[in-house]
Amino acid sequence: MKLGILGGGQLGRMMALAAAPLDIHCRVWEPEATACAQHYAEHLHKNYDDLAARELFLKDIDACTYEFENVPTPLIEALQSRITVNPPLLAISTSQDRLQEKAFFQSLDISTAPYCAVNSLQDLEAAVTKLGLPAVLKTCRFGYDGKGQFILRSTSDIQEAWKQLSGGSVPVSLILEGFIKFQREVSQVAVRSKQGDIRFYALSENVHRNGILYSSMAKPQDALSQSAQQQVRKVMEALNYVGVICVEFFDVAGKLIANEYAPRVHNSGHWTIEGAETSQFENHVRAVCGLPLGSTATRGHVATLNIIGKHPDAQKVCAINGAHLHVYGKSEKPARKLGHITLRCDNAISLQKSFDAAQSLIRM
Ligand code: AMP
Repeated sequence: MKLGILGGGQLGRMMALAAAPLDIHCRVWEPEATACAQHYAEHLHKNYDDLAARELFLKDIDACTYEFENVPTPLIEALQSRITVNPPLLAISTSQDRLQEKAFFQSLDISTAPYCAVNSLQDLEAAVTKLGLPAVLKTCRFGYDGKGQFILRSTSDIQEAWKQLSGGSVPVSLILEGFIKFQREVSQVAVRSKQGDIRFYALSENVHRNGILYSSMAKPQDALSQSAQQQVRKVMEALNYVGVICVEFFDVAGKLIANEYAPRVHNSGHWTIEGAETSQFENHVRAVCGLPLGSTATRGHVATLNIIGKHPDAQKVCAINGAHLHVYGKSEKPARKLGHITLRCDNAISLQKSFDAAQSLIRM
């Protein structure tokens, strides 16, 4: 069987690695020459608007998915007349626009931060008056890892926030969100099969630094698990979803506020490679290829630390109890995700020790 994947970064690489034992071969379509999935998948190194490349991509593939959320939706529209693409178009088109995404959550009675659409400086001034400060101004589209965001703390920040994000002569749609004073950030990774079977992974407790995910810890007994699962179930069913999804939430005094969802495998689910019976990557491949899902049960106590900007000493990482090093084959660059370390131990105390040891080896 052959799976076509739009995008060829580390998520495509880990998907291809998970697909191999199932005898599923992957072809990644990725315009970047350095696509790190190419070591484990056939690399179609062409631009997405190349019509001849589209035919090469479609040749002999049995299913199609994607591994980044900014895939041009016209491309998915064109492909889906020829092959089934999952997760479905509605899932990705909604997630690509923060305003649509928030309205979608609210239509399902899922709480979000209060927000206003901003298309002019006057809109921004009115939104600040309505929502109060602090508040977060974000681009509606193409934001990731904290990019395309400005935190306004006083009215004197309004001009600068507008200058930085409005796009100048090429206007950009913006959203102002009320600043959520959360106790912690959590995410729920889940998977739905073509038959509608849904499985949930343990809730992840996540820490971000400078807008980038720093660590995730599996919390199988978390008090908010049931609430998170109910909400993610509603999202998946409304979208007739197939594949892995991740919904990110703020925990505000025990109540979940949805921030955003990713219609794909997610960084906060990387711990599932060693820490769950079936990894998010394998279950995603199974779902989009029409295979039954595997168990999502957690194995022991598990956490992931991201390697950002600089590679740690592999000798030292591998010497840590329960550590598994995942290097994505990318060159060092500030703020770039280069890999991750999963720590999997038999009890919480050993996990904390290994986590601390691994933290001392990564510099951010
Ligand atoms: P996002 O790109 O929306 O995932 O935002 C990146 C990070 O910025 C989140 O993980 C939060 O740590 C923080 N953040 C985003 N939106 C808000 C908000 N409305 N209130 C407080 N913090 C936020």
